[in-house]
Amino acid sequence: MYIKKILQSPISFLLLLLLIITSFVFFFNVFPGEDSSILQVHFIDVGQGDSILIQTPGKQNILIDGGEKNQGAYLQSYLQKQGVKHLHMVIATHPHADHIGGLVQVLANFPTDTVYLPPVTHTTRTFEDLLSTIEQENIPLSPPPSSEPILFEKDLALEFLSPQRDFQDHLNDWSIVLKLTYDNHRFLFTGDIEGAAETALIQDYSRDRLDADVLKVSHHGSSTSSSLSFLEAVSPQVSVISSGKENPYGHPHKETLERLLQFSPNLYRTDLQGTVLINSDGVELWSPLAPLPAAGLDASSGRTLMRFLSEILLKDRIRPLFT
Ligand SMILES: [Zn+2]
Repeated sequence: MYIKKILQSPISFLLLLLLIITSFVFFFNVFPGEDSSILQVHFIDVGQGDSILIQTPGKQNILIDGGEKNQGAYLQSYLQKQGVKHLHMVIATHPHADHIGGLVQVLANFPTDTVYLPPVTHTTRTFEDLLSTIEQENIPLSPPPSSEPILFEKDLALEFLSPQRDFQDHLNDWSIVLKLTYDNHRFLFTGDIEGAAETALIQDYSRDRLDADVLKVSHHGSSTSSSLSFLEAVSPQVSVISSGKENPYGHPHKETLERLLQFSPNLYRTDLQGTVLINSDGVELWSPLAPLPAAGLDASSGRTLMRFLSEILLKDRIRPLFT
């Protein structure tokens, strides 16, 4: 019999075994990247600036900020590599160039359902370019909706927590603050808010509403943000700082790193680690990248052999680092 012949030949037998294993992997979705129940949050390394891509379990793409204008081409290729063909939401947290510059190229190249901007204007060329691109591409523009949670998909909700007040000419404080909840896990994205907006958030919302597992640290780790009372209210398991390598502002500031150390045991920095990916299936939270050693004061000193190995071995594999 033909089958008997196949099984008698060692090479054919091995090939058959390989085929069975491959089919198993394919049909039972062994690889987490192919699991549709996973939320992926990419803190993209755009140098000194912010850009965060959220890919939902329902395959929707949300982009918060886009770095400086000179990051536009890189950002476009990064999104393409992640399979992004369409953006459901683009949120420009506030009109500073290190948040909106790269969005101009993105909005000109990806069909986008809605752009959200805070109700504040700026007179720079970059901001004007952003507005004219939105108009040219005919993209609906919206102020942040009310802070009531929007059920986005099953078990996935978005809340626009700020701005709720008039912060006058303090553009950073006008930043849209967004909370994303996926089942058990909460992410807080704070743009560049500083003291006034942090205090307003503490006054306007209960501790439970501000509490988050993952915090995008405000204003690139500046010492004028991340007050002790704000960090205490959010009490994040994981903090991510988005800043440029050797930037002229000295971000992140040492005082911020020290404050973070008190409330947040796991720290990531894009200036030292590049793009940081955090995954959640609603029950477990993990990253393919190990967090920095204590407070992220120095990345190189903590690079042990174990960490090096874990970064390689854990790449794209499920590891509940912060459940
Ligand atoms: Zn900024």
